[in-house]
Amino acid sequence: MPTGIFFHYQQGERLKDFPQALGTILERDDVFLYDALYPSKPASSFDLEPLSLETLYKVHSPEMIKRVKATGNYEGALYSAAGTVAGARRICSEEITNAFVFTGYGDHHAGSTFFGGGCYFNGAALAISEVRRKFSITRFAIIDTDAHHGDGTWELFENDREVLYICFCTGNSREHNNNVNIHVPPHTTDSHYLSLTNQAFHNRVAGFHPELIFWNWGYDSTTGEYGDMGLSPEVHLKLAAQIRALARETCSGRLIIILCGGSRRDLARFLIPRIIETLLE
Ligand SMILES: [Zn+2]
Ligand SMILES: [Zn+2]
Repeated sequence: MPTGIFFHYQQGERLKDFPQALGTILERDDVFLYDALYPSKPASSFDLEPLSLETLYKVHSPEMIKRVKATGNYEGALYSAAGTVAGARRICSEEITNAFVFTGYGDHHAGSTFFGGGCYFNGAALAISEVRRKFSITRFAIIDTDAHHGDGTWELFENDREVLYICFCTGNSREHNNNVNIHVPPHTTDSHYLSLTNQAFHNRVAGFHPELIFWNWGYDSTTGEYGDMGLSPEVHLKLAAQIRALARETCSGRLIIILCGGSRRDLARFLIPRIIETLLE
């Protein structure tokens, strides 16, 4: 079954080369591109539908939504989250197996009443809210390897027994219900990092039996980025292979990769097409 790529063009440096930098990936028969607000769409792409307001108000408070509108980033935030919601919906209706979501704005710092750090709405939470209502899918895992702590996702799922949230950051290790924070040293090596991710994710996710896995993937942990953990760019490709294998083992490959932190345009160009290729293998 195909892979879905959900694209929303945003002003700014890092995604300037996309979607064109995906090159021949876009010509494949097993790739569907869903595209919002991009001025020169490939003929084969589909429109990315906006997020339903009903779903938005189920996750975020009216007062918070009002504050997001006041920032001027409301539309971009809506389409960023819309990609994740549409990806989950299409996986659950078996149109696609897995998805990569380009976001203009991240999501893991957005909680029920607060937002920050370039995140406005929580795409994974919105997607879970929507597919729970529309499909008989109930168990979800969210793996978060952005360099920073996902305080919004933590708050939204702290008391939700059907969502496993594993955050992998420099914060202290702690556990509450199915929320787990795993401490990663601020500076480490690729091999140490990958052994920690394997230990952190494999048994927990396999034991939880999720029906769909979200991966909040940030490359801000790469050397020279703003969340530098001393990692090489290649570590993300190995991590992608690890998480994809885990999705295959636990939930027939149902995986949504959500682009989170990272600012460099050269790293986006290098990493994103290769990460998508791991979904296609
Ligand atoms: Zn964390
Ligand atoms: Zn980050």
